[in-house]
Amino acid sequence: MDNISFNGTLRFLQNQIGLPCACCGRTVLSEKELEALAKKIVPKKGRELANFLTPYTDYFDNPIKREPLDKLIACASDERFANEGLKGLALRFNIFYENTPLNILRRLFDSILYSADHIVPRSEGGLNRQANYLPMHRACNSDRFSDSYEILAQKKPNFVENIHKALREIYRRIVVDKSGKPKYKINLDESYIENAADPLRQQGINVNMDFIKRI
Ligand SMILES: [Zn+2]
Repeated sequence: MDNISFNGTLRFLQNQIGLPCACCGRTVLSEKELEALAKKIVPKKGRELANFLTPYTDYFDNPIKREPLDKLIACASDERFANEGLKGLALRFNIFYENTPLNILRRLFDSILYSADHIVPRSEGGLNRQANYLPMHRACNSDRFSDSYEILAQKKPNFVENIHKALREIYRRIVVDKSGKPKYKINLDESYIENAADPLRQQGINVNMDFIKRI
């Protein structure tokens, strides 16, 4: 049944690994992924750290949002700091206040972490219900402002395609879960897909169930 609260929905979606963002289509980082990333980063120093972090700049469209990460990578690439790790570099350049690797990364990646977008905004009577949520980067979610999905589809060329991509991946995980091979644990009911079609239609988006359910 579609009766789980916003926080409940957020909690179980937060643990999903690599769901596509319904807005930009790129992977959304969950806290769990971030934790795994922090563990990999801790032993790395200097240029090795810079090389490891560089691919993550691809997550950011906006140079302003990417700035702290670029700054850290530039510091890590500097030969004078060849022996500095993430924590040392961050503190040395006073980039962040919180000094555990996880907190530093959380600050760095804040705008690409997970959020649940209300398909029908709460200001328009949208409910805190599973079927009214789609996974979206925090940055993409906040860039939406008060635009309807119909407007977003005009502004962003792949928007409708990306919504389908996100729904298809969620559906796939629900089905995988039911087949007894819970590679990804997802607590969503299959009805989520059907129920989400309503708020999407209200926002001017018609979903193609054949595409979503074609495994
Ligand atoms: Zn996004």
